[in-house]
Amino acid sequence: MKHYIIPIFIPHLGCQHQCIFCNQQKITGKLTPVTAMQVGAIINERLAAINQKRHIEVAFYGGSFTSLPEGIQNDLLAPATECLRSGRIHAIRLSTRPDCINAQTVNNLSKQGVTIVELGVQSLDDNVLVRAARGHNSQVVAEAVTILKKTGLRCGLQLMPGLPGEDWISLIRTVQQSVKLRPDFVRIYPTVVIAGTALAESYRQGAYHPLSLTQAVVRSAYMKIVFQRQGIDVIRTGLQASEELDSKETVIAGPYHPAFGELVDSHIFYLMLAGFIEKNPIRFPTNLIIRHHPQDCSKIRGQYNSNINSLKRCYRLLRVSLYADATIKKGNLVVGYGGQAYLMNKNMISSI
Ligand code: SF4
Repeated sequence: MKHYIIPIFIPHLGCQHQCIFCNQQKITGKLTPVTAMQVGAIINERLAAINQKRHIEVAFYGGSFTSLPEGIQNDLLAPATECLRSGRIHAIRLSTRPDCINAQTVNNLSKQGVTIVELGVQSLDDNVLVRAARGHNSQVVAEAVTILKKTGLRCGLQLMPGLPGEDWISLIRTVQQSVKLRPDFVRIYPTVVIAGTALAESYRQGAYHPLSLTQAVVRSAYMKIVFQRQGIDVIRTGLQASEELDSKETVIAGPYHPAFGELVDSHIFYLMLAGFIEKNPIRFPTNLIIRHHPQDCSKIRGQYNSNINSLKRCYRLLRVSLYADATIKKGNLVVGYGGQAYLMNKNMISSI
């Protein structure tokens, strides 16, 4: 069944630190956090508009939910909890900071029906965390994950490649440590420069250089491949496109793209195909036939056919032909050339 998320934005509610990259008002377009009464109204309004069978979740985003006094947390959760108990929704999730997680808080969340907590982790490199003014270190993240798991809540990590002080080594370590924590899922949000933040000031002064779009795609693809290989779901790469983010007044610089996730998947297909050809060298100009799941066609081609053109240019291919085949699993390919056919999946990318 398809998921349907009812987002409730609580911009900066509960935040005791101002992280250098964050401006929730700009990102969400909401200037003030919601009240408990408004939460109920939003849920009812969204539920009334759903006319198909969906797995419905209410999600609290944009603040430090668990650093709020317990009474306020419960007030905000109450309308969602009521809907959960009456079967009108199926789950409640929220995002918060790792240093605002303790056993008592998590037990209370569990009692209110919360089953998924997403931790804003960003990096597990302590140097990067200091420079981002996060106010906690990587050890705190490990402790928070342990507490959530003990209580039986599902736990997700939000990671931000491209923060100041991060390089490839730092990113690889963050990914390796994240894998060791065994989260249920991760989200990957490459750092973009949002107006009104300390990062924007640093960018203006020339002290911070954001990742280019290509660099962000390559890093995110690496992360996605490693996590998925380890059986960890990557539920999102790149910020969800919105009117606010599409505006130049919100995103000043950095690798924002409304179809960022598609660019990442496209790059992964390119790595699969290029890696395959490298391992099975083409000795004379030839044709390549790619059979794929119908929904993967545009990702394999790349934006403006970039993958196909690049493969042809680099590997002496005369022609690359794509055929949709519903019997092929999403993400897999059957590649044929020289009279042979080869089945491929992401796990076969040997360069990572
Ligand atoms: S990243 Fe999280 S903790 Fe930091 S300012 Fe934004 S909402 Fe608050």
